[in-house]
Amino acid sequence: METLKTPGSLTLVAVPIGNMGDITKRAYETLKSADCIACEDTRITGKLLVKLSIINRPDLISYRDENECYLAEKLAERIDAGEEIALVSDAGTPAVSDPGFRLVRECRRRSLTVTSTPGPCAAITALSISGLPSDGFLFTGFLPPKRAARLRFLQSYQDFDYTIIAYESCHRIKKFINDLVDSLGPDRCICVARELTKKHETVYSGPANEVRQLMAQASQKGEFVICIAKDGFVL
Ligand code: SAM
Repeated sequence: METLKTPGSLTLVAVPIGNMGDITKRAYETLKSADCIACEDTRITGKLLVKLSIINRPDLISYRDENECYLAEKLAERIDAGEEIALVSDAGTPAVSDPGFRLVRECRRRSLTVTSTPGPCAAITALSISGLPSDGFLFTGFLPPKRAARLRFLQSYQDFDYTIIAYESCHRIKKFINDLVDSLGPDRCICVARELTKKHETVYSGPANEVRQLMAQASQKGEFVICIAKDGFVL
């Protein structure tokens, strides 16, 4: 269904994943002029607005996994009434492994205008610098936290023809890489990107077993993206 431009609108605003220099001019202008900003954590977005010197800041509404269903309708009603609402997450692109999908769906159902100020996204940043094939990819977000489910998932994609991109936290990265070696083998080519765009950005790439050895000698703090090449690919 085609959506015509309505008086109110929802704008998904991508924000930096670690480097304030990555805020775009359009993101800044949208945040400054919005009637309301729906965000995950009002303290984090409040600090972002201070860094951007947005003094007369718009109202901030906490839009999280827990209240997404209820708030999606309320916010869509406000947009329907003519308000300009911006949606941000704590970092990166809203609705990518972050809340947002339900609000976008609600606006689409009501034929309201949904647009974006595109920008940082950890998955795309990692893929683009990985050296792994990037003509096609599967983004999985976070894999299941339980080992058996994670192994099942990895095994079910062992013959997948494109690069797989997953997110992982510092608490589980070691287990993730161990499971990857166990299920896809020590020679599977991978790229692990840590702390992208930040001071301690580190990128490990090569056969999974070698990456595991390199990572064991370094800090495993921070945020991680893992890219997994198709079987047989050699960097
Ligand atoms: N919406 C975000 C995006 O567009 O990338 C992703 C949010 S998700 C809740 C958070 C996960 O993204 C982290 O656990 C990590 O896997 C990944 N991530 C976010 N920032 C990152 C960074 N600077 N370096 C590496 N991974 C990052």
